[in-house]
Amino acid sequence: MRGTLPFAVVLNPRLRAELTSAGAVLSEQVPLADLTTLRVGGPARVLAEASTTAALVATVRLLDAAGIPVLVLAGGSNLLISDEGFDGVVVRVANDEIRMDAASVSVDAGAEWDRVVAETVAAGLGGLECLSGIPGSAGATPVQNVGAYGVEISSLLTSVDLLDRASGDVRTVAPDELGLAYRTSVLKHSDRAVVLSATFALRSDGTSAPLRFGELARVLTADEGETRPAAQVRDAVLGLRRSKGMVLAADDNDTWSAGSFFTNPVVAEEDLSTVLSAIADRVGEVTVPRFPAPDGVKLSAGWLIERAGFAKGFPGVDAPARLSTKHTLALTNRGSARASDIVDLARTVRAGVHAAFGVTLEPEPVTVGLSL
Ligand SMILES: Cc1cc2nc3c(=O)[nH]c(=O)nc-3n(C[C@H](O)[C@H](O)[C@H](O)COP(=O)(O)OP(=O)(O)OC[C@H]3O[C@@H](n4cnc5c(N)ncnc54)[C@H](O)[C@@H]3O)c2cc1C
Repeated sequence: MRGTLPFAVVLNPRLRAELTSAGAVLSEQVPLADLTTLRVGGPARVLAEASTTAALVATVRLLDAAGIPVLVLAGGSNLLISDEGFDGVVVRVANDEIRMDAASVSVDAGAEWDRVVAETVAAGLGGLECLSGIPGSAGATPVQNVGAYGVEISSLLTSVDLLDRASGDVRTVAPDELGLAYRTSVLKHSDRAVVLSATFALRSDGTSAPLRFGELARVLTADEGETRPAAQVRDAVLGLRRSKGMVLAADDNDTWSAGSFFTNPVVAEEDLSTVLSAIADRVGEVTVPRFPAPDGVKLSAGWLIERAGFAKGFPGVDAPARLSTKHTLALTNRGSARASDIVDLARTVRAGVHAAFGVTLEPEPVTVGLSL
């Protein structure tokens, strides 16, 4: 049963009053399943919603000074939170202004990311269109260097304003301070900073970023490296994403997920031949999708999962947590799943891929109160 955690963290009346006067809206025992796209997770002891940047900064500073555990949450689309919930304060990032000029956009961290993409494209600014349809907030995009269809935000990000939680200072930092890499940064799995806003350089001629993803280029009858009007690319990306259950839809359980659950594994050059022969032993001589990566060769997690014997919809219609019926890489809640069901499924898939090919898949979402 959810909500049975014997909570230990208590906010004293003075701290409550200070948080409220700082602009935080407090509520108690809030089910985190309601705030995450996987729709699992027990209660937050307290939820503090901050809808301005000043309130966000003051809230986190007060909680840090009091030594209260903080979980920063925005869209909840990259979080897997345990059924026990969070014994501390979940700070909901809800500042949401968008400021555009002729060739850039500066957005508050809590702004809904797809609104940012839609508004920039509608204003004739290109660059973000390949990142259409990704759920969650603008402020979380640097956290895991969000990417899709051949574009990562690292190629567009020019600066981030953040609250440095060690010093309590607000600083503007350049992208090269953030350690942005494939689905990670120094901010991921870390309490060191809260992103307050982010600024992206855009293309004032309304064209897209050069198309780098074969499937997308084919849909647009373009060659890789060509550009197209940003609005056309946005439509194509949304179409492709919908066909894979990668755009949130309340009535489609295939989208009750955290997106891709595992990152694509990078195999060191010296281990590649062993992995390739394990694949050949299992599925015969096939072309294995692989891409160059800074520290080895990136394989496709979805391809490995399917070849290890996990079909779309695994383990079957009665299971509360299943692989998406549209996309093997998404673990989904069919309506009644708990976090433990998602974890069990993740462990099964991970163990199966490891047993088949000797490759260990790593989860992409941030886990809270549990591990695989
Ligand atoms: C259907 C679906 C499709 C998806 N497709 C993609 C995709 O194509 N590419 C991709 O990269 N991701 C994808 N994702 C994952 C997810 O949408 C992104 O990672 C998104 O940026 C998370 O934003 P959020 O606001 O929901 O973050 P949350 O889930 O609220 O938080 C995620 C992590 O970031 C931290 N965080 C959030 N906001 C801040 C902040 N302001 N400052 C500091 N830390 C913060 C949280 O503490 C947590 O650790 C998908 C998810 C779903 C459900």
